[in-house]
Parts: sequence; structure tokens; C-alpha cells
Amino acid sequence: MSDTPGIVITGASGRMGQMLIGQVSASDRVHLAGAVERAGHAWVGQDIGVAMGGAAIGVFVTDDPAAAMKDAQAVIDFTAPEATLAFAKVAAAAGVVHVIGTTGMSDAQITGLDAPSKQTVIVRAGNMSLGVNLLTQLTKRVAAALDADFDIEVIEAHHNQKVDAPSGTALMLGEAAAEGRGVALADVSDRGRDGITGARKRGDIGFTAIRGGDIVGEHDVMFAAAGERIILRHIASDRAVFARGAIKAALWGQGKPAGAYDMLDVLGLND
Ligand code: NAP
Repeated sequence: MSDTPGIVITGASGRMGQMLIGQVSASDRVHLAGAVERAGHAWVGQDIGVAMGGAAIGVFVTDDPAAAMKDAQAVIDFTAPEATLAFAKVAAAAGVVHVIGTTGMSDAQITGLDAPSKQTVIVRAGNMSLGVNLLTQLTKRVAAALDADFDIEVIEAHHNQKVDAPSGTALMLGEAAAEGRGVALADVSDRGRDGITGARKRGDIGFTAIRGGDIVGEHDVMFAAAGERIILRHIASDRAVFARGAIKAALWGQGKPAGAYDMLDVLGLND
């Protein structure tokens, strides 16, 4: 068996799950140690390579996450909030690094990660790409430099199968803008305008979500004032950027003290 860290992928049949399996299998810095799907899924018991329509790779899809994580060093998890909470307990018990890309978690669900993060390393980020994490830092700086004469709007676009809105990335960018302005996002967030909404409130941070086709992920942060606009933009055209970021996080987490981290920690962008 390889002496590189072994990675388990949850949600193996998902868009990100399959991308991660491809990237982990192709990497010479990690190896695929397991693939997890939920009980009853058609892929359970099959070789993951064959299930994905390719050659056998000798890793069989299981519905038993504890068994999959037993001899692994990290689990990369892009699934759904309730599944991620359950995986966090298993990862903590197994002592493996838990990289969480799942978005749409409620505040209560995020609090549910507190106990597992005392036992193991959790790296959670609404976006694992280098570009977006840089964009959050730029957003914070621009928001700090401008006053509330500049209205801040976060506009995101994703494929038509995405289930949560605004995107986890849009919320990260909104948080960064609020932090730059020295306010709490919860106090100024303006979502889902419809009907006679009245004039825009000074200082609000607005969110707009576009859903269509196969858009991988696009985010604009607009600072709009009388007579001028600044727009910071990130476009992801390939899910591989998220998978590469997640693998980087899994490697970074090896040997780190238990705790809750994000991609800014991984990328050394925290100031
Ligand atoms: P997807 O194609 O729908 O895949 C989700 C996978 O999770 C499926 O395999 C699904 O299995 C599994 N799953 C869902 N609920 C489950 C449960 N309760 N128990 C066990 N498995 C469960 O979605 P995706 O596009 O890959 O995105 C997955 C997540 O990652 C979303 O939250 C998305 O927003 C997020 N994401 C994050 C980033 C980032 O950089 N942080 C980037 C892209 C996507 P079934 O098929 O059996 O339902």
C-alpha cells in the first residue's frame, strides 16, 4: 500500500464526489482509501472506477463510513448538511482530518461541528479554490476602504441542480465585506428582493442568485456608488479547482492540532 496519506471520499457518486475520486486517484501525493455512498445506493459494493464508467481501481464503494475511515488519514466530504454532521462524528472517532466542502449548513449545524473539532482537524470552506479565497481578502480590503456611499451587492450564478441559495461562496464574500465594514452580516443582509421592497437601505449587503444550465460557479462583488462601480469577479469553469483545494487541505491538516480551520488557514491568507 502507498505511503501517501489515504483519502476517503463521501458522496462518491455526486458531481464533486466523482471529480474528487478522479483527482485523488491521479495524484502522487495522496491515494484513494475509500469511497462512501449512502445505504441502498446502486453503487454500493461496486468498484468505484467501474461505477464511474472506467477501469477497475480496486476500491469498492461502501455504505459504512467508519470502516472506510479506519485506516485512512483524511475524509473529503462534499455532500449535504445532515450527512456532513454524521460524517464529522465518525471522522472524529477515527481521528482523521475532515475536509468539508458541503454548503447550506445552518448555524445550529455549524455549532454541531464544535465537539468533533475538539477531537480532530476540521477544514471547512464554502469554496476551496485559491481564487475565491483571495477574492474574500480583496473584498474585505475594498469594503474597509470605502464607506456606505458604496452599496455592496453579491451576485452569484450556478448550475440548475444547486439546492441552496445564496451559495456558500456568496455568503463567504458577504461575511468578508461585512467584516471590512466592521458590521455583522446578519444585521445588514438583504436577500431575495421581490415586489414593493422600498428603497435600498444604506449599508445593506444584497444577495442575488442566478440558476441555470451547467454554470460551475461565478461570483461578483459589486461596490456601486453615484457615478462609479467597482466589480470584483471570480469565475470557476472547472470543478477540479475545488477538488485540488480540498486535497491541499487534507494534506495541510496532517499533524495539525485538533480544531476548526478554513481555507485561508490552508493557503496562508489569514491576516
Ligand atoms: P451532488 O452532485 O448532488 O452530490 C451530493 C452527493 O452527496 C451525492 O452523492 C449524494 O448521494 C450525497 N448525499 C446527499 N445527502 C446525503 C446523505 N444524507 N447521506 C449520504 N450521502 C448524501 O452535489 P455536488 O454538486 O457534488 O455538491 C455537493 C456539495 O458540495 C453541495 O453542498 C455544494 O454546494 C458543495 N460544493 C462546495 C464547493 C466548495 O468549494 N466548498 C464546490 C462545489 C460544491 P445521493 O446521490 O444518494 O443523494
